[in-house]
Formats: sequence, structure tokens, C-alpha cells
Amino acid sequence: MDARSVIVAKRDGRELSAEQIRWFIDGYVADRVAEYQAAALAMAIFLNGMAPRELEAWMKAMLHSGKVLSFPELDRPKVDKHSTGGVGDKVSIPLAPAMAACGLAVPMISGRGLGHTGGTLDKLEAIPGMHTGLDEDAFRRTLTETGLAFGAQTKDIVPADRKLYALRDVTGTVESIPLIASSIMSKKLAEGLDGLVLDVKFGSGAFITDVDRGAELARVMIGLAGSLGVKAAAYQTSMAEPLGVCVGHALEIEESLACLRGEGPDDLRELVLLQGGEALVLGGICDDVDAGRVRIAASLADGSAMEHFERVIAAQGAKPGALQHLARTKEVHELRAPRSGVLEYTDLRAVGGALVELGGGRRRIEDEIDPAVGFEFPVLAGASVSEGDLLARVHHQRGRGLEDCLALLDAGLRVTDAYEAPPLVLGRVD
Ligand code: URA
Repeated sequence: MDARSVIVAKRDGRELSAEQIRWFIDGYVADRVAEYQAAALAMAIFLNGMAPRELEAWMKAMLHSGKVLSFPELDRPKVDKHSTGGVGDKVSIPLAPAMAACGLAVPMISGRGLGHTGGTLDKLEAIPGMHTGLDEDAFRRTLTETGLAFGAQTKDIVPADRKLYALRDVTGTVESIPLIASSIMSKKLAEGLDGLVLDVKFGSGAFITDVDRGAELARVMIGLAGSLGVKAAAYQTSMAEPLGVCVGHALEIEESLACLRGEGPDDLRELVLLQGGEALVLGGICDDVDAGRVRIAASLADGSAMEHFERVIAAQGAKPGALQHLARTKEVHELRAPRSGVLEYTDLRAVGGALVELGGGRRRIEDEIDPAVGFEFPVLAGASVSEGDLLARVHHQRGRGLEDCLALLDAGLRVTDAYEAPPLVLGRVD
């Protein structure tokens, strides 16, 4: 077998065998298959898709490229949540500690920023000292001691996704149902889970913008979970506008802390209650989502979710008082409504791109992220504004990237005559 024959088979629309797939993924992880060959195969998959059996073999080869964790020592149900990614999507940060506070074990392996979307790991690392590259022992210890752990793909845990995720980010191969589904499910199924809640985004800020294709992605992921006996539930939720008010790493940590204190913003809180409620049902702690929502809300109100968050970040290296020392820029530019009307986010992908211009995202794998830069968007999509009203506060570092950022914001939002935003939650996918 050789890499070229596997690439050619996929390029020509043929179905790859499980043996070809395992050979390719193992070779890629061991550096016998070159990055450019993996990029070519990813593009062939992007263009030609994958048959269900082929995708299952691909996902399992990624999953078994490293250790599959199991936690027989834990007597709590192990449940996690993952989103397909979006702009301002910080749900996992308040949700995971709330789930742990309600009696679940949450072994969460997340990703970094991908394309125009931010990553949970990068956001958490905006907390001074916080470290997410845990090895297996540290991950297990943190999970046992605190009820949750925030980890990353490493050279031991889903190394195939670690390499492929970064490669897809810079080769135009992110927006593919089989590649997204296998990336997410290989990470999640490596966590030794009993249940998984999936947040599948639709709208201009999602990778799969179309609602019907999003539902297909959800069903594919539920099927992959089922192939390994893991219960999964999926909700389709809106990325037609930023989630919450803040976009940008340190700003999103501040907004997550507000949610952990039982405050708003309303859309963030709603997704935390809904997905947390579903997680408690999957874990067998509550009988229905409404009862689960009540439990999650109580953990936010009584401080137990915040306590779990403080414990986990301390276990992962955050310094005492770290949450009081989040990075901030000195300069803020205000963007104001050029006319009266109704706010619409016409292109949320451009808004995500605007953050990259400020230094809040990567153009190349090795780029460092500036955690301080970002946006506050105080107006909801569909709300009325008057000429001169504040639309955005742009936190920048001495003007770096500001001109290009503002050009992208100009493309990403506008004041129009009439616009009705889609609902935050479209529904559960069955
Ligand atoms: N999240 C992931 O983990 N992988 C993707 O490909 C997209 C979103």
C-alpha cells in the first residue's frame, strides 16, 4: 500500500477499505505519510464525501490512533458536550463545571480555534497559568479530584485529530460533514463516555451553515456514537449572530464567569440550561430535561458550579487570583449605527475573521493568540437601533489590524429596514 494509491482512489470517488484507512491514518501519525499527502486526501474527502461504513472506519482509525481512556475508578456517569463551533461560543466553559456540580464526571477534550471560530482551549488559556495539554495521568487526576478536566488532543490522545485538525484549518478542508463528524467523535469517544450532548450550529457563523445539512451532520455523529454504544443527543442552535455579547478570549472568560454567577447573557444561559439538562438525563441523574434544567440553574445560583470551575482551573495551573488578572487592551474603538433601523449580522464568518485581524486568531499553526483583543456586541440581531447607537466596542492593541478588522465588521453586520433573527434553538435532532 502507498499513500498515492489511497489518495487516487478517493480522488476518483472510490470507497476506501478499512485497511487502507488504518494504514493511512497510522502512517500520518507516525510521519510516514507526509502532511501534503494528508492534505490531498482531506481535500479528496471534502470533494467526494464518505460512505457510512467508510466514515465509521475512518473515525475508528482516528480514535485508535492514540489511547482510548476509561475511568472504571469513577462511580459517576461520564457525560460530555461538544459544539461544531461558532463565534462567541463559550458554552462549554460554564457548562462543564455546572454538569460536574450536578454529579456528572466531565472528561472534556476540546479543540483550539478553527477557521473563523474560537476554540475552548485557547479561551481557557486566557486565564493566567492555565494549562490544557494534560497527559493521561494529569487528565485522570484532575477528573478524579475535581469532577471535570479540560484537555486537548495530544501525542497520546487522538493524535490523528491533533494533526489533521491543524492541517484542515490551513488547507480549506474544514467544512466537510465526514471530516467534522470524525474529528469531533474521535475526540469525544476517546474520553470513555456514557453520554454526549452535541450542539450543532447553523447560520452564517457555522461551518455547515444550512439547517438541513446541519441535521444530517447531527445524525451522522449520533450514528457514530451509537456504533460504540454511546448515547448521544443533538440540538441545532443558531450561529446567525454571536453567542452572548463578547467575542475574544479573555472577554469570553469574563462572560463565562458572569454565567457561572447565575447572570446573563440570556442566550448563553439558555444553552447552558438546555444542554446541561440533557446531559443530566443522559447520565441518568434526572428523568427529563426540565428537571435537569432546574438542577443546572441551582448549581449556578448556589455557587457550586463556580466552585467546581475554580477548583479545576487551580488543578490545571491557574495562579491564585488569576481570574482577576485577565488580559485587557488599553484601547477601545466604538462602532456606531450609521442610520436608524434594525441590526442584522449578514456574515458572521466575517466577524470571526475580524477577530483574527486584531491578533485574536491564527493564520498559521504556530501563531500566538492575543487573549486581550475582541469585541462586545451589545445589540441583539433583530433589535431596533437609532443612528449613532453603539453597535460594537472593538478592543484592539494600538491599532494593530484595526483597519482590516473594521472592513470585515462592515461586511459582517449592517443596519437594515427589517430583519427577524432565527430562534436560538431550532430543536432536538432525532
Ligand atoms: N470541532 C471539531 O472538533 N472538529 C471540527 O472539525 C469542527 C469543530
